[in-house]
Amino acid sequence: MTHVAILGGGPAGLAAAQAALAAGAAVTLLDEGGRLGGQFWRHHAGITDPRMQHGFERFERLLGSLERAEVHSGAAVWSAELRDGGDGGGGRIVLRAVVGDADAADRRPVVVQADAVVVATGAHDLALPVPGWTLPGVTTAGAAQALAKRDGVSVGRRTLVAGAGPFLLPVAQSLALVGATVVGVHEASRTGALARGWLPKPWELLGKSGELAEYVGALVRHRIPYRIGSGVVRVLGVERVEGAVVAQLDTQWRPVPGTERVIECDAVALGHGFTPRLEAAIMLGCEVEGDRRGRFVVVDDAQRTTMPGVFAAGEVTGIGGADAALAEGAIAGFRAAGLAQDDPRLRDALRVRDRMRRLARRLERAHGIRPGWTAWLDDDTIVCRCEAVTKGAIAERAEVPLRAMRLATRAGLGPCQARTCGRAVEAIVAEARASAAVTGAAGEAVGGANAGAQGDGAVGFDRRPLLAPVRLGELAEPTEPASDENRNEAWPSGCSA
Ligand SMILES: Cc1cc2nc3c(=O)[nH]c(=O)nc-3n(C[C@H](O)[C@H](O)[C@H](O)COP(=O)(O)OP(=O)(O)OC[C@H]3O[C@@H](n4cnc5c(N)ncnc54)[C@H](O)[C@@H]3O)c2cc1C
Repeated sequence: MTHVAILGGGPAGLAAAQAALAAGAAVTLLDEGGRLGGQFWRHHAGITDPRMQHGFERFERLLGSLERAEVHSGAAVWSAELRDGGDGGGGRIVLRAVVGDADAADRRPVVVQADAVVVATGAHDLALPVPGWTLPGVTTAGAAQALAKRDGVSVGRRTLVAGAGPFLLPVAQSLALVGATVVGVHEASRTGALARGWLPKPWELLGKSGELAEYVGALVRHRIPYRIGSGVVRVLGVERVEGAVVAQLDTQWRPVPGTERVIECDAVALGHGFTPRLEAAIMLGCEVEGDRRGRFVVVDDAQRTTMPGVFAAGEVTGIGGADAALAEGAIAGFRAAGLAQDDPRLRDALRVRDRMRRLARRLERAHGIRPGWTAWLDDDTIVCRCEAVTKGAIAERAEVPLRAMRLATRAGLGPCQARTCGRAVEAIVAEARASAAVTGAAGEAVGGANAGAQGDGAVGFDRRPLLAPVRLGELAEPTEPASDENRNEAWPSGCSA
């Protein structure tokens, strides 16, 4: 029986597990969250407000389909390896994880060996730095959303939501539902970009119009102003957020002089899109491709990566939303379990995936990051929050190779390992190099929030020796793959969906 490992328990991973099981494979699913569901179905027993949980019935059906799977939640996968199977038929996949709370002393190791893996590690939300963004009260839009959805709390009493993309709408709605006053939603893209992204072929958007109407209704009901071509260019306050300066932005997101005004608020939620969690795919040797849309794992029509037996689905392959993740997950799960591309069971998922890919291209056209955003930074704006590295310090060392710049400044070397600042640091380096007309060592390519990235240099901040924090004692424990007899037991004690 083919054994499929699934890394990630969000929409893509859950759909992959369901499909692989339906195709007769043995399935092991690992997810580091305490509850399955990923970012989209983040929830908390008892608190979850159904108005914030779209498609929760689908989630419950997916969970219900996992009965025959071995599921490890609370399992941080720290290593993913492709071993040569020795038969010329490709590799064997070995995933190593520790299961338990991050700060628990008694986490236990889990090792999974499988014939195929679906990498469905999702994305982080991306917040571009702004002067003052290190003040308490500034969060990412995703963090504000997670707190509202999972814990029913708001990040502030008067919250300003700013950035780019349709995700700002559910964030504003959730904040309003948990009792916050949302003082405004500021979308950086201007009317022209929004029209280019959203107006052509309106019939393609029919499936999404209900959701949009719901969010617009929420803005109207809660009297939340929505501004286009506008962004937060400075956060004000001494010990915490007391207000924010917003300004009109030009087509490249440069602040238009003379348009600044102050809005009083005690919290700012920033979200400029999403950035995929590529590190597991990179550790497995998969090719990553970069262009103006950002960097993603390269997959073919069957969701196969460039490595044998390794499939990828969901936000790691492109930012397309939960429906795209579900469709890609189903395709990857079926194919990893051995079904052919023309098997009728793939038909629906293939159709939805292709439609959602078109939606993803619209998203990028309408809301993709424009390079002028760096104009709202000062030289002393902190970009790497963990190590307090400023824009000026990064730009000053832009001409040396990225690795040397990181060692010299410590940008991206703190606890978050560049998850928060990586794209912004790369954008600042690329811009500084362009304006000084220099290239990094050996023509090294640099990606970043303003991407244009190609080549191995583009992988820089996403290549990590370990995928998750792990203690030396845990590393030293014997971690050989579990025997086949143990593989498909009922869920181990202490693990739950
Ligand atoms: C913070 C945040 C909030 C969001 N909220 C919404 C929302 O409210 N509404 C909406 O429409 N869209 C939301 N999105 C977008 C949404 O995430 C996607 O559309 C959808 O969830 C993508 O599904 P996915 O399966 O690809 O990834 P995800 O849902 O992100 O799932 C990936 C899973 O992989 C797991 N994982 C990653 N690395 C490891 C590892 N090393 N070891 C173990 N497990 C690992 C993670 O724990 C996660 O559960 C949000 C995104 C983010 C980043």
